[in-house]
Amino acid sequence: MSLPTPKSLHPLLQQLSSLQFYCQLLRDCISSRDLRTGRAIHSHLVKSSPQPPHFVSLSNHLIELYSKCDLVSLARRTFNSILEPNVFSWNIMMGGYVKEQYMRPAQQLFDEMPQRDTVSWNTLISGYAAVGDTENVMALFREMLERKVAMDNFTFSGAISGCSTMQQVRAVHGSVIRGGFDSHVTVHNTLLTAYSNYGCLDDSERVFELMETRDRVTMNAMIVAYGQHRRGAEALLLFQDMVHQDVVVDMYSLASLLTAFTSLADLSGGKQFHAQLIKAGYESNSHVGSGLVDLYSKCGSIPDAAQVFKEIPEPDLVLWNTMISGFAMNERGEDSVVCFRELQREGLRPDDCSYVCVISACADLTVPLQGKQIHSLVVRTEFVDHISVNNALITMYSKCGNLNDARNLFDRMPQHNSISCNAIIGGYAQHGHGIKALELFEHMRKSGIKPTSVTFISVLSACGHTGKVEEGKSYFRDMRKECGIEPSAEHYSCMVDLLGRAGQLDEAERLISSMPFQPGAITWGALLGACRTHRNIDLGTRVASELLRLEPSNASAYVMLSNMYADSGRWDEAAAIRKLMKTRGVKKTPGCSWIEVKKKVHVFVAEDCSHPRSQEIYKFLKEISRRMKLAGYVPDMRWALVRDTDEEERTLKLEHHSEKLAVAFGLMSSGIGVPILVMKNLRICGDCHNAIKFISAIVGREITVRDAYRFHCFKEGKCSCGDYW
Ligand code: ZN
Ligand code: ZN
Repeated sequence: MSLPTPKSLHPLLQQLSSLQFYCQLLRDCISSRDLRTGRAIHSHLVKSSPQPPHFVSLSNHLIELYSKCDLVSLARRTFNSILEPNVFSWNIMMGGYVKEQYMRPAQQLFDEMPQRDTVSWNTLISGYAAVGDTENVMALFREMLERKVAMDNFTFSGAISGCSTMQQVRAVHGSVIRGGFDSHVTVHNTLLTAYSNYGCLDDSERVFELMETRDRVTMNAMIVAYGQHRRGAEALLLFQDMVHQDVVVDMYSLASLLTAFTSLADLSGGKQFHAQLIKAGYESNSHVGSGLVDLYSKCGSIPDAAQVFKEIPEPDLVLWNTMISGFAMNERGEDSVVCFRELQREGLRPDDCSYVCVISACADLTVPLQGKQIHSLVVRTEFVDHISVNNALITMYSKCGNLNDARNLFDRMPQHNSISCNAIIGGYAQHGHGIKALELFEHMRKSGIKPTSVTFISVLSACGHTGKVEEGKSYFRDMRKECGIEPSAEHYSCMVDLLGRAGQLDEAERLISSMPFQPGAITWGALLGACRTHRNIDLGTRVASELLRLEPSNASAYVMLSNMYADSGRWDEAAAIRKLMKTRGVKKTPGCSWIEVKKKVHVFVAEDCSHPRSQEIYKFLKEISRRMKLAGYVPDMRWALVRDTDEEERTLKLEHHSEKLAVAFGLMSSGIGVPILVMKNLRICGDCHNAIKFISAIVGREITVRDAYRFHCFKEGKCSCGDYW
């Protein structure tokens, strides 16, 4: 590109006017995210060495542009090249890190700054608020008060949104009043939303009533607040108020009201409002369309969502993304990918959000190939180093059983945030690589990335899968003490599971009775599983009755209890439970396993004969069973549980479990040495687990089974879970 310079001016004036010209150009680049022009200007500036005096302000624009385009390392290089950065340079660079939630380098910059202004403080506060690090938000806010740093509306809004308890909101509210910002609209809106988020709709309403001028933004916020509290009627009233008061109703008001219906999951209310929107002529508006698609998707009504989408003549990117994610959240991964491809065909450029949505859809597909294809697309775009896109890819790879690719990606990322760490730690935990999960957790702590509630679920389950009881207990203590995270039902269930697996059933029961809330089915289920493993029928019976009281039609509770009786030869009691199940009309989910071969999914149930290659499969199994037995495999009859049939028949029944059929088919129909991945809807059975270990050694192949709980990676006669499951 050529950049015109006015020739007729005095050199100094000329320099000044070209400075203004470049600044304007760069500002345009920033607002349109025009990276190409920005970089051209940058290289032009670099050539005009030595650094001209106006270099700082231009560089600041460049830092802002690069940050906006998620190229934070390039932004940093630019920052480093400035000889004398001014306070704006520091602030903008810090803002770049904050935007990507890279809080450690942001904090470092803040500490190194030769001088700070209010913006510096605000930037850091809002960054910590965005990652939910209340402790640091409050510490910074207090420090500002102590040092008497001038505060503005951004300070208060940042601090309010960083609060994690009602008390904190009230405390900051006090400072707002003392600081004289209680008539500031932005601050009020944030307060209103915060009170609503913490369940105090009354306080929200009070803040709302106190406001002298009600503007549209405030009314929209109040509508959203009503929606959150399932007070759709009031939301609608306020909306009608707006119309009566001649407040110009904009797209956002309509969208806010739609949000109200969405959070209520009020499909019929939403539909009525939809009819009104059509009457008012908004049916082809992209923004309203997004709200409607979101409403219908979240209410599980995908045909309605797709219909709305189809009728909008020129959908914008937000609408496309809403549709892609709508399909994804309704387990229509295939449609989600199709929608994404259509978006590309229409000539639109997918943004980070489109990629994140479609990658999450791929994570739930049975076909790992799709996700990989999307990844190869990402590599060719500017999103290659984008943190949320990479986080989604890590989750996708580990859900599809491809932990190596997940880890490679994690290692290649220039920076991590808590979501990246959660994705990889969760992946390792699910795959049974507990030690690696815990190593990464320590790495996360050392890098100063704050663990979240989700992190601890993975950490505790990793401890459970590796038998690290003492470590688990100490992490459980740490999470409250050091990280201020209150354990949820899920954390308690992990602990019960951990203690139960290790045979500490009494302590597990004590933990349940010490829970600050009523134990749910998952917690009891974890203990029941442990009772079966450790053959404690008395406790098992008690736990099962608790579980069945909560969920009378929980099939797995009946099955587990009946199996426990059968395990110890108490066949009559086992049969009684089965009978009870039958009279209560409880149906057991039939176990099935599936495998993808050449882009086609093949599903098997136990003793399946429906597959076109059934005969070959059974022949293959017969032969491999023979070789397994030679290698020392003994069928474990506890998993057969068929009463009164002869020994031979029971062995055959074991041999024809769905996971064995799927594994056999996978081995038959893929090349030598190729790893295979089998999925199962229930927990893998104990005999199959043992058998597949033998098979992996005999055929020299890596076999991964993803069951309803975790991954088992069988290799050379061993499983990654170390038989601890
Ligand atoms: Zn089995
Ligand atoms: Zn295993």
